[in-house]
Amino acid sequence: MSQVPDGDGPVTENRAAENYDAVIVGAGLAGLYQLYLLRQLGLHARIIEAADGVGGTWFWNRYPGARCDVQSMSYSYSFSPELEQEWEWTEKYPTQPEILRYLNHVAERFDLTRDITLSTRVVSAQYDDATARWTLRTDTGSTMTAQFVIMATGCLSASKLPEIPGLERYRGRKHHTARWGKEEIRFDGLRVGVIGTGSSGIQSIPIIAEQAADLTVFQRTPNFSMPAGNRPLEPGEVAELKASYRGWREAQRTSRAGIPAPEATEFALAASPGERAARYQAAWEKGDLVSLGGCYVDILIDPAANETAAEFIRSKIRAVVHDPETAETLSPRTFPFGTKRPCLDTGYYATFNRPNVHLVDLRMTPLIEFTESGLRTSAAEYEFDAVVFATGFDAMTGALAAIDIRNGNGLSLSSVWTAGPRTYLGVAMAGFPNLFTITGPGSPSVLSNMVVSIEQHVEWISDLIAYLREHGYAAAEVTAEAEESWVTHVAEVGSLTLFPRANSWYMGANVPGKPRVFLPYIGGVGAFRQKCEEVAASGYEGFTLRRAGELAAV
Ligand code: FAD
Ligand code: NAP
Repeated sequence: MSQVPDGDGPVTENRAAENYDAVIVGAGLAGLYQLYLLRQLGLHARIIEAADGVGGTWFWNRYPGARCDVQSMSYSYSFSPELEQEWEWTEKYPTQPEILRYLNHVAERFDLTRDITLSTRVVSAQYDDATARWTLRTDTGSTMTAQFVIMATGCLSASKLPEIPGLERYRGRKHHTARWGKEEIRFDGLRVGVIGTGSSGIQSIPIIAEQAADLTVFQRTPNFSMPAGNRPLEPGEVAELKASYRGWREAQRTSRAGIPAPEATEFALAASPGERAARYQAAWEKGDLVSLGGCYVDILIDPAANETAAEFIRSKIRAVVHDPETAETLSPRTFPFGTKRPCLDTGYYATFNRPNVHLVDLRMTPLIEFTESGLRTSAAEYEFDAVVFATGFDAMTGALAAIDIRNGNGLSLSSVWTAGPRTYLGVAMAGFPNLFTITGPGSPSVLSNMVVSIEQHVEWISDLIAYLREHGYAAAEVTAEAEESWVTHVAEVGSLTLFPRANSWYMGANVPGKPRVFLPYIGGVGAFRQKCEEVAASGYEGFTLRRAGELAAV
C-alpha cells in the first residue's frame, strides 16, 4: 500500500528534554502564523510537524484536481501587506501546488524554517500543575517541555479509510486523497475504483476519468455541487484588489463566513417561483460556495425554503447528465442543501456521461469487502488495478484525539470529550491550562474561510500569552462555568438550523461511534470575533489566571 496509513513511527531514542516557552504542533497555515507571532513576542517557540514539509492540508492533499474553493486572493494571509502585494495568485481558485508554493514562500520569507522540526509526530502531552509546564513526547523519542502548547493540528488532517473488511487482502494500488504522496500518480489505461463523493472525490473524479481506461465511482451519499467557474485571474482585477486589500480584509473579518457577501434579507417562500429561479441562477453563475445558500435568510433554517434551493441544483444535475437514472442517483435527497459541506467542481456531473465511467449506488448495493483483486458489493464483484479512497477525515477532533493529552491529574482530554468536544470559544479547555487549539470545535472554523478564522484565533492566543507575560501570570485555565456556558450556546445556535438533520462530518456522523454533536459554531465569523474581543477586553473573562506562587494551590 503506497500512501494510505498514517502510521506512527517507532520510538527510537531518548534524548534530554528541550525547553521552550511554546511548542506549536503542526506547520500548516495555523502553525506557521502562530510561530511568526510568538517570535515577535520574544518567545522561544518551536513547531513540531509530522510531515517532511510545511503546508499542512496543502502538503498532504496532492490528489489530481486538488484546489481550494475559496478564491485565492481571499484564501491568503492578511497579516503582512508586503506579502499580499508581492505574491501573485494566478487563478480564481488556486491549485494545491500553488498554495503549497505560497506556504513554502511564507516559511522562507519570514525565516520560520529554522524553528520547525519536520518528520516528527507529537504522541503525548502531559501537564504539570506545580511548574505550569507541558512535557511533550514524539515518535522519534525526543522530549520537550513548554509553558504553552498550541495545537495547530488541523480540523481536516486525520484521514479516514472506509470501514470495509479485507483492505489488507487487496493487491492493487491504493491511494488516499489526503495521503497522496509526492510522486506523480497516473491512472492511464487502468481500471480504477473511487470510493467517496465528497469534495475530494468530486474534484478528483473528472481527472481520474480522463486518464483511466475504466472508472467506477462508489457513492454512498450524493453531494450538492456547483460549478466553480475557475479561470485565470486578470491583471486588472488583481491590481484592483491589491489596491484595496485593507478594506477587503476588514470585510472578511466582519462577514458571516470570512467571505464578504451581501446579507440576505428576504424569505425564499415569500418569493415567486420565477423570482427564486432568477436569483438562484445568478448565484449559480457566480461560481462560489456562499452565494446560493445566501440567497434567502431561511435556507438553512426552514426545510421548505431549503428544498427550493436543493431542487434548483437537482434540476441542474438533470440538465447535464444524459441518463435519467444516473442523474437521479447523483441527486441528493437525504439531507438539506448546505448541511453537508457543498462542493465546487469542474465538469463533475458531465463526467458521468463518459462511456468509461460507471456509478454504483452503495445505498442500493452496499460494499461488503475487499477481495484480492478489487471490491465486492451486495450485488457484484469489481476488479481494479487501483482504488482511490476519497473517504474523508475524522474531522475537528481526530488529530487531537490521536495525541495522549493529559492534565495534572492524569485525566486525558479524550476521556473528557467522550460525549463530544467541550471548549471555550474553540480555543481552550477547562482542566487543561496553557493548552490552546486553533479553530477548534466550538469555533466558526470549518464553516468559514479558514484563513480568516485561523488568523483570528492565532492573534487572540498570542494576545492572551502577551497579557499573561505582561501581568506576571504563569498559567491561564478556562473555568468549568465558562466552558459549559459556551458549549450550551454553540449547541443551541446549531439546533436552530437544519445542520443537525444531516449525517455529516460536521455532526461527527462519518466516523462510527463518534458522538453526534454539531462540532463548529454557526454564529458567524464577525459575531464570534466580537465575542472573543469582549473576552480579551474584560481581562480574559472565563479564565482563571494564576501567578507562579499560586500554582501549588491548584
Ligand atoms: P492543517 O493544514 O491541517 O495542518 C495541520 C498540520 O498538523 C498537518 O501538517 C499535520 O501533519 C500536523 N499534525 C497533526 N497532528 C500532529 C501531531 N500529533 N504531531 C505533529 N504534527 C501533527 N478551507 C477553506 O477555508 N477553504 C478551502 O477551499 C479549503 N479547501 C480544503 C481542501 C482540502 C483537500 C482539505 C483537506 C481542506 C480544505 N480546507 C479548506 C480546510 C483546510 O484544512 C484549512 O483551510 C487550512 O489549511 C487548515 O490549516 P491548519 O494549519 O489549521 O491545519
Ligand atoms: P468527505 O466530504 O467526508 O467525503 C467522504 C466521502 O466518502 C463521502 O462521500 C462519504 O460518504 C464517503 N465514505 C466515507 N466512508 C465510506 C464508507 N465506509 N463506505 C462508502 N463511502 C464512504 O471527505 P472529503 O471529500 O475529503 O472532504 C472533507 C472536507 O475537506 C470537505 O467537506 C471540505 O471541507 C474539505 N475539502 C475541501 C476541498 C475544497 O475546498 N476544494 C476539497 C477537498 C476537501 P457519506 O457522505 O455517506 O459519509
